Amino acid sequence: MLYSKLFPKPQKTNKEYDSANARYLINGGFINQVMAGAYTFLPLGNRVLVKIEQIVRREMDKIGQEVLMPSIVPTQLWEDTGRLEKVDVLFKALGANEASKTKNDAEYVLNSTHEEVVTPLAKQFTSSYKDFPFALYQIQTKFRNEPRAKSGILRGREFRMKDLYSFHTSEEDLLDYYNNVAMPAYVEVFKKLGLGDSTVIALASGGDFTDKYSHEFQTLCETGEDTLYYDKEENIYYNKEVVKDPEAKKYDIVKGAEVGNIFPLNTKFSKALDFTYTDEQGDKKLVYMGCYGIGTSRVMGVLVEKFHDDKGIIWPVQVAPYLVHLVGLDLNDQEIRQRATSLYQKLNDEGIEVLFDDREEVRPGAKFADADLIGIPVRLVISKRTEDKIEWKKRDEKDSELLAYNEVLARINKILTH
Ligand code: ATP
Ligand code: MG
Repeated sequence: MLYSKLFPKPQKTNKEYDSANARYLINGGFINQVMAGAYTFLPLGNRVLVKIEQIVRREMDKIGQEVLMPSIVPTQLWEDTGRLEKVDVLFKALGANEASKTKNDAEYVLNSTHEEVVTPLAKQFTSSYKDFPFALYQIQTKFRNEPRAKSGILRGREFRMKDLYSFHTSEEDLLDYYNNVAMPAYVEVFKKLGLGDSTVIALASGGDFTDKYSHEFQTLCETGEDTLYYDKEENIYYNKEVVKDPEAKKYDIVKGAEVGNIFPLNTKFSKALDFTYTDEQGDKKLVYMGCYGIGTSRVMGVLVEKFHDDKGIIWPVQVAPYLVHLVGLDLNDQEIRQRATSLYQKLNDEGIEVLFDDREEVRPGAKFADADLIGIPVRLVISKRTEDKIEWKKRDEKDSELLAYNEVLARINKILTH
């Protein structure tokens, strides 16, 4: 990608932001605010989001099948489960408007979660115990009328979520999948996203689904909205909301950002929607369900909260918008421009993702500041001073060195295979 063509360029402002992800993602040209809690993902930001979702998708494909359900559904589906008036963040949409000639005065719901859609779907296509177990998932936009949308993309009113739903003939089978399939898949996802070291599992409320706990994946992080109580002796984290004896025991209190949450739903929705199967004896039994969410857009914000310095973002390689930020300096000199362009082409031919700052009119200091802000893992420089070599610097290291092309390529391949 040529930087001169990049839409839009980073725009540093002196505005005060409530979080690092808001400051760097907005200034860096990754996201653009439309209203509180609703953002456009710009080309750089969209590349990061797509990579995050692809990492999540690869792990989910091992434990379920991908579908795509509608965001907008008739209110009836939510009436059927009794949640229409219960979920306080539910957005409703009106069919009727001033301009429409047809009289469509129906009301719709913009889904905040998809049990209301996936349960009737699963019910429609199953009847026998032989149809179970199975799991469906999607990666999609969710709507929640959050009273306090804040912290950039950590809490949106429209946001991206991966939600998976599993269906079982017994509580035993549900718990087996929950503990031995979904849980390890989640651990793997956060490891692959670069959050493995800083993400813990916390026991949290099971809502009105189960009297047991649900499990939250919490990335330890100062800007996180959740308060966690860590029991050192037992090595267990609890969400503050379920700690009944905060004075009794000695807890360490830390902040976390909830990046994922898994729930044993048990028979809550199958009961409400009369979702049964016929067992081997021909008896009708209720289906057991689990649900498993990951906030993919929140993950993007959390990655920035975890990986930045005072100059900008430091993306982990696997989610970076590009792997290489090639800075061309002294480009009005035709020979140097030729060297930089040919390096850009050679790297492209190798299949390496490169952002090439090909602008002539911009000072070196401004180009380097943009590179630090955007946070691409490897910075290469071609200039008068680099002669027939290439300057190499990693975003997370201080020193640069001059290398031959082959050494640059070898190091890039080493990064890519790690
Ligand atoms: P929170 O407690 O932060 O409001 P939640 O418990 O209501 O979240 P879930 O219903 O468990 O959220 O949704 C699954 C995942 O979706 C969460 O773990 C989180 O990562 C993400 N998520 C939830 N709400 C938002 C939001 N408003 N903006 C961005 N991501 C969100
Ligand atoms: Mg939750």
